[in-house]
Amino acid sequence: MSIIRTSFGLKNLISEELERDYKSPLVERMKAGGNRLTLGDLEFRLAEEFGFCYGVDKAVDFAYETLRKFPGKRIFITDEIIHNPRVNLRLRALGIEFLNGKYAEGKTIEEVMPEDVVLIPAFGSSLSGLEKLKARGCTLVDTTCGSVVHVWKRVEKYARDGFTSLIHGKFKHEETIATSSQVTQFPGGVFIIVRDKEQAGIVCRYITSGGDKNKFLEEFRGALSERFSPDTHLERIGCANQTTMLSSESLEIAGMIRDALRAKHGDEALEAHFRSFDTICSATQDRQDAALKLAQSNADLILVIGGFNSSNTEHLAEISSHFKPSYHIEDAGDIISVRQIRHQPVGRHERVAHQEWLPEGPAVIGLTAGASTPNRVIEDVMNRIRNLRV
Ligand code: SF4
Repeated sequence: MSIIRTSFGLKNLISEELERDYKSPLVERMKAGGNRLTLGDLEFRLAEEFGFCYGVDKAVDFAYETLRKFPGKRIFITDEIIHNPRVNLRLRALGIEFLNGKYAEGKTIEEVMPEDVVLIPAFGSSLSGLEKLKARGCTLVDTTCGSVVHVWKRVEKYARDGFTSLIHGKFKHEETIATSSQVTQFPGGVFIIVRDKEQAGIVCRYITSGGDKNKFLEEFRGALSERFSPDTHLERIGCANQTTMLSSESLEIAGMIRDALRAKHGDEALEAHFRSFDTICSATQDRQDAALKLAQSNADLILVIGGFNSSNTEHLAEISSHFKPSYHIEDAGDIISVRQIRHQPVGRHERVAHQEWLPEGPAVIGLTAGASTPNRVIEDVMNRIRNLRV
């Protein structure tokens, strides 16, 4: 068994393929021309930061390099490499087999043999998942993003120092599953995963006033480490977050927890009871800042392009929806016509059809895209609108 974490140095062999699969000459031209493109009476305006982040770039490159490095070998991936259907489908078409998730076709980890290669996605793997893979004796190619590893180090430190890790995230998200598992390798390491400010409020009330323990445990079912008790594990808390959460909400949650612990233990004892570290990655922050700026511009509407299960894309849609009509779409196929669009409304996990999304006559269409969205998908969306409008 070996774990490979650095590039094979084969970038020159894969660059043409990557270019063809994901890059967009049109988007490159727009970037060179101030992120704008005028087609007839439509102006497309791109956010200043959008699309593939450094972590996704690295993971996708690594997957393509792995195919070149191990020709003839069976290559698996534990689950989606990133949350974008085009990328996952392309990897499957290239011969990479998925062991879990919606792209899996029946192969299981028990079928992995020592001579096989298994990719670990950008989100990382839980410790138990990693142990299972190691036991298969295969070659592991680990594409975990460095910013995710950075969060792991933070929660490990909390656990070593006897602090409960309070993670602002989604407990079913691969990254948060991997992050929370890091805590439990330490004796007494505990975590609680908090979805939003509402759940943070429940934690705060328990800290300051206690409450119904069973109700608390029920509220956080699936989001707690095994031995978690709100009576003993809310005394010393270290805050962290999934790298793709809404950064303003993560900061607010940390502030709420700090205030509750201060109210309970007093100002002087606060340091012994509270720690916080903003673990939103810089790529997420940059895209959120740019989405805000775009939404505050004179764009008539915003199209937010990215996988429907992409956490960071959902948050871009949430930000822009406060200012402009905003539509989270996955790809060009969601533009049904100039009258109808199919999108995922903020806070819901279903696609709905919406009528009259595009104004008649001149319009400025703001565009942004999640960190896992290839530029080629953005180009497809612009072409689709242009073709429908002409
Ligand atoms: S969104 Fe951030 S943490 Fe996730 S892969 Fe990209 S750079 Fe890494």
